[in-house]
Amino acid sequence: MSWGCPHQLNDYTCTRLKRECHPGIKGCVLHGRFVFAGDTEEVKVMAKVDSIRRGLASGGTQSLDALLADAKKLGLKIYACPNAMANLNISQKELIGEIDGIMGLSAFLGYARGASVNWYI
Ligand code: SF4
Repeated sequence: MSWGCPHQLNDYTCTRLKRECHPGIKGCVLHGRFVFAGDTEEVKVMAKVDSIRRGLASGGTQSLDALLADAKKLGLKIYACPNAMANLNISQKELIGEIDGIMGLSAFLGYARGASVNWYI
């Protein structure tokens, strides 16, 4: 037995959701009606990534590059954490140009003590 979704085009685009077909995701005619073998965290993450891509493509969400450029104009300083870099095997040469330096948590806390706003992400 087979079933063909009337909303699926030959290139696997969903005309209902205006995106790539992922049977069973929110908004799909099959959502909540069946359990799919692919209902994994990976599928859920893919749906989130697609949602972000759609937001960026629609112009409703600024790209990270644009947000970063705006924040830098406002005086944002960005420091990379050396422990995170080591854990992720990132070298200093691989850091993007917007990074102002490398600073560990202890140094950051001392530096940030006098700041009015600071984040450690
Ligand atoms: S996502 Fe669902 S509704 Fe859309 S084409 Fe795929 S099966 Fe059909």
